[in-house]
Amino acid sequence: MPVLVLNASLQPLSVIPERRLVVLLSKQKVAFVDDSVRRAIEEGIDARRFSLDEPVIVQLLANVRVPRMALRPTRANIMLRDEETCQYCGKHTRDLTLDHVIPRSRGGESTWENLVACCRPCNGRKGNRLPQEVGMKLLKHPRPLHNEFAGFFLLRYPRLREAYEQFLTSAQVDVSASA
Ligand SMILES: [Zn+2]
Repeated sequence: MPVLVLNASLQPLSVIPERRLVVLLSKQKVAFVDDSVRRAIEEGIDARRFSLDEPVIVQLLANVRVPRMALRPTRANIMLRDEETCQYCGKHTRDLTLDHVIPRSRGGESTWENLVACCRPCNGRKGNRLPQEVGMKLLKHPRPLHNEFAGFFLLRYPRLREAYEQFLTSAQVDVSASA
């Protein structure tokens, strides 16, 4: 049962295991955003057993400052940014390759701006050429990700991400305004 921790400003900070949540609760650092989840967790702590299957979201009572930190364009991070979708044809698949938009043989570097997720058929079609040379086009301009990007790590947790988006809608808050 992963637990999503929000900053006091409601921006997602991290996902923690439940034993870490118990520590934060005992130190009175966090509050639940949902009352029925709070009751279920408190019962779980009393019983020393968690049977909750719902996503759990807690909010820090005091805001922490998050340093802006550059993330490296690793394969895993590129796949997260591109949401496991081929950036040429839009196909969603786990069987993706990393494509250098400007091929390495032509001096293309391994940067956020030059790496995209690419399915095998598109990769085969593109080969060592530029997209425009083979009539291909990127779906969107590739940009770097920063760890402050709201919910970046949440891409790994679809259920928590969905719960977080629902929470924002129901709370009618605009996190981007406070970013
Ligand atoms: Zn493709």
